[in-house]
Amino acid sequence: MFRTLEDLDVKDKRVLVRVDFNVPLKDGRVGDDTRIRAALPTLEALASRGATLILMSHLGRPKGVDDAARMRPVAARLEELLGRDVRYLACDGPGSAEEQAFVRDAPHGSVTLLENTRFDARETKNDPALARILAGYADMYVDDAFGSAHRAHASTEGVARLLPSAAGHLLEQELHALGKLLDSPEHPFVVILGGAKVSDKIGVISTLLEVADRILIGGAMAFTFAAAQGGKVGASRVEEDQLDTARSLLARASERGVSMVLPEDSVCARELKQGAQTSVHPTDQIPDGLLGLDVGPRAIAAFREALDGARTVFWNGPLGVFETPPFDAGTVALAHVVAELPAFTVVGGGDSVAAVNATGLADRIGHISTGGGAALEFLEGKTLPGVAVLGS
Ligand code: ADP
Ligand code: MG
Repeated sequence: MFRTLEDLDVKDKRVLVRVDFNVPLKDGRVGDDTRIRAALPTLEALASRGATLILMSHLGRPKGVDDAARMRPVAARLEELLGRDVRYLACDGPGSAEEQAFVRDAPHGSVTLLENTRFDARETKNDPALARILAGYADMYVDDAFGSAHRAHASTEGVARLLPSAAGHLLEQELHALGKLLDSPEHPFVVILGGAKVSDKIGVISTLLEVADRILIGGAMAFTFAAAQGGKVGASRVEEDQLDTARSLLARASERGVSMVLPEDSVCARELKQGAQTSVHPTDQIPDGLLGLDVGPRAIAAFREALDGARTVFWNGPLGVFETPPFDAGTVALAHVVAELPAFTVVGGGDSVAAVNATGLADRIGHISTGGGAALEFLEGKTLPGVAVLGS
C-alpha cells in the first residue's frame, strides 16, 4: 500500500508536486493538454486545503538546457486551466541558484512551476545532491506522475525519500485501475495486444497469460506469432529472434486453457504509404513482397466475438499502422467495439491512447492510462520505484 493525500496535512505547508506535464508542443504552445488536465484534481485539492504549490515535471528529452523544451507554454496553459496565476522563471533548471531564489520568494498560497527537470543532468541519475535541493523547496512531497513512476529519478524517487510523501489522485487512480487487472479482474478478462514488437511486450504477455481468459493479438506482433507457427507472412515485419518466445507463449496459453486469438486475415500493401493500394490475405498466406499493415475484416469479426460478454478488458498496442490511413481501420473498428462493451475497460500505451483519443471515444473507456512504459512495467509485475518509496 502507499500513502495518499488523505495522509498529509498540507494546510499552510509548501508542497512539492511531481506532475507529468510531458506534453506535445506545437508552434510554441501545448498541442494536447490531456496530461495537464489529468493533474488538476490533485492540484485543486491541495490548493483548496491551503497549500503553497511548487510543481515540477520533465518535458521531452533535452540533453541539458534547451530553449525548445522550456516549461513556459505549459505554465501558460496551466494558468488558463486553473484560472489563477502560475509563477514561472525561465532558467537553467530546478537545481540552479536562480530557481532556488525564485522558489524561496513564492508567496503563501501561490502556484510555481519549476523549469524542466531534465535541464539538470543529475535528474536522471537520481543524484542525491539534486534531490536534497528539491527537498529543500518544500515541507512535503506529492507524486502524481504515473508516467515517470517506473524511473528512479531525483524528482521522483530521490526526493520522496527526503520528505513526508504521498501519491496524488492521478497516481492513486492509475494504481487502482491497473492493480485491479492483476489482482481481481472480473472474468471473462480479455486482453488485446498489438503494436510493433513482441520483444517490448513479452513481459506483459507472460503475466497477463496467468490471469486472462483470452488474448487477442494484432499489430506487427501478429506476424511473428504467425511465422512461429509456420505461416508465410510475405514481407511483414517478423522478429526472427522472438520466434521461440512466441512458440513458448503459445504453449503456455494452451497449457492454461487461455485462447490466443491471432488475426485470421490481414490488410496488405506493397509499401507503407497513405492511400496505398491494399489487398486482404490470410495472415499465414501473405504473398511474397506484401507487407501486413493492419488486421483484416475477419480478424475484426473474430475479435468482436471474443470480446462479447467480457467483464474486463485491457488493450495495449494499435492493431495496425494507425498513423497511416487506411491502415487505421482495424484499430478504429476495435476502439468502437471496446467503447460499447459493458465491461471495465482499460487502455494503456502511448500510441494506443493516441489512437483511442483520435477516435473521440476516450470518455467511453473505463480507464485511460497516462503512462505507457510505467503501465506496462506495472502489469509485468515489476515494482515501480516511484511508487515503492511512497509505501506505508
Ligand atoms: P503503445 O505505444 O500503445 O504501447 P507500441 O509502441 O507498441 O504501442 O506500437 C505502436 C506502433 O506499432 C505504431 O507506430 C504502429 O504503426 C506500429 N504497428 C502496428 N501494426 C503494425 C504493423 N502491422 N507493421 C508495422 N508496424 C505496426
Ligand atoms: Mg509506443
